[in-house]
Amino acid sequence: MTQELGSRERSLVVLGACMASLLLLFLRSIQLQVLEYESYGGLSRQNRLRRIDLAAPRGLVITSDSIIIAESRPGFNLVLVATADWGGAVRRVASLLDADSAALQAAVAGQRRQFPRDPVVLFRDLPPAMLARIEEHLDQLPGLRIETNALRKANYGPLGSHLLGYTSRIGTVEYAKLKDRGYRLGDDIGKGSLERQFESVLRGSDGYEFYEVDARGRDRGVPEALDPVQPLPGATLRLSIDWRLQLAAESLFSDGRKGAAVALEPSTGRILALVSRPNFDPNLFAAGIRSEDWNRLAADPDFPLWDRAIRSQYPPGSTFKVITAAAALEEMLTAPEDRLRQGCPGGIRIGNRYFKCWKKGGHGSLDMHQAIVQSCDVYFYQLGLQLTVEKLALWSRRLGLGAATGIDLPQEAAGLVPDRDWYELRTGPGSWRGGVAANMAIGQGELLTTPLQLASLYGAIGNDGIRWRPHLLIAVENETGETLRKELRINDRLPLSPGTISVLKRALTGVVNEPGGTGAAARHADVEVAGKTGTAQNPHGDDHSWFACFAPADSPRIAVAVLVENAGHGSAVAAPIAGVIVRSYLARRASVPGPSAPQASGQ
Ligand SMILES: [Zn+2]
Repeated sequence: MTQELGSRERSLVVLGACMASLLLLFLRSIQLQVLEYESYGGLSRQNRLRRIDLAAPRGLVITSDSIIIAESRPGFNLVLVATADWGGAVRRVASLLDADSAALQAAVAGQRRQFPRDPVVLFRDLPPAMLARIEEHLDQLPGLRIETNALRKANYGPLGSHLLGYTSRIGTVEYAKLKDRGYRLGDDIGKGSLERQFESVLRGSDGYEFYEVDARGRDRGVPEALDPVQPLPGATLRLSIDWRLQLAAESLFSDGRKGAAVALEPSTGRILALVSRPNFDPNLFAAGIRSEDWNRLAADPDFPLWDRAIRSQYPPGSTFKVITAAAALEEMLTAPEDRLRQGCPGGIRIGNRYFKCWKKGGHGSLDMHQAIVQSCDVYFYQLGLQLTVEKLALWSRRLGLGAATGIDLPQEAAGLVPDRDWYELRTGPGSWRGGVAANMAIGQGELLTTPLQLASLYGAIGNDGIRWRPHLLIAVENETGETLRKELRINDRLPLSPGTISVLKRALTGVVNEPGGTGAAARHADVEVAGKTGTAQNPHGDDHSWFACFAPADSPRIAVAVLVENAGHGSAVAAPIAGVIVRSYLARRASVPGPSAPQASGQ
């Protein structure tokens, strides 16, 4: 026997070895697929691995005085995970909890038609007694699971509801649009105000774990080898809101008044308080709002869900006179010391209409300072006629009306500044002439503003023309207190000369502090408050009451706008409310040094 094989023989040996291995593999696969089919297949049918999401707690909302106004609390949901043969379990749980079985089954069937594989939340936020009853019977409820969820909790209920907003459940219609962004059916999503504006940072990110179920959908627990991925809580919002001031301002509306109050820091644009009444309890929405609660809120003629501070638009009434005065000075139509040709006998004829002053007996002859202090309408009718609608519209826009302030809240209204074209289009050629300008000059007619716009404008006048964009956000922070996003401070300058601003500031100080001034109700014992009353005619009912102010007049630390619907004169209702807000804020801040010089600027 020779020791050496030819190349041909070597090839045959290799081929033979390969064939043998292939044969072995083939036999093994036969064994797996055919011989052991029963046991392997049975196992994969019996035990299924399911992924379950672990809800991330929503981020905290904290005020500048370190009050947590919104947080997360745990809630327990009963969830249907079985995709087939669920009817019996749903019937059983309905009888266990005294629920309407037919309605429950219809709801499941409804969701399953659209999203056949998604879990169905049968009950959200189960009360402890119901939870205990279900847990006791869980082994008789195949396909049902109790899941822990994170629910929003507004710690002060309806107080501050319009700055906070609410969260609500994602229903089937919304889910179709949101599922690509990582939302699940039944998740919470921010629906209004800060909850909506900062949804992306508040929501956090869900974790997940796996669990096994058997063929009947019964929970077999979490397999040891698969570690859960823990949820990442939402970030914390730190706000400029001064919660004690917010509560003080809220309490001034507690007698059923409707309206809004906005307080801000003129040297930064930070919002200190934002009140809109009537309000609502965001907690009603946390676990899915009950239909009777929703119907009540939606049908309420006072629109409690509507944020009057930034979304309602009202005629500014006489608070607008600062704009008319500024426009007349900047256009050099008059000087502050000028007395107009006609004094105020209590009214003035324009065309074929008689325009009344609010003071029947008239004010006599006035200069601009006294005309603002005493809020003489006749003086301003005459300025309006000289300015025309065009110039009044131009200066309204230059001073910030007709445009959103850019506050970090959704759905801010822009107000309305009607100009020549606006009237030509809506009320006919030439309709903007004469009386329309006179009316506009005293803030009546079609021109509309929001309480936020007036707070911002008055703050900017008090701040010598530097206007800071209103905002609530001081910082977004993660769990360890690290800042993820900083306050955005942006300013611009009102296009007014220092001389014009000084005339306005002195006159507004006179409104509150001089004899005959209409804003005496906002007076402060130690500090000069500067402001202006307004009484806005309203085609739908009684006049609205306005007051806009800043204090201390020479270097303001707070600016406030108050609007009370259908309450009559600004001097009688809105001014005293604004006065309490100013006093409450300055009293507490008396020992604190004044606001530091702004650090950043833009635009
Ligand atoms: Zn008058």
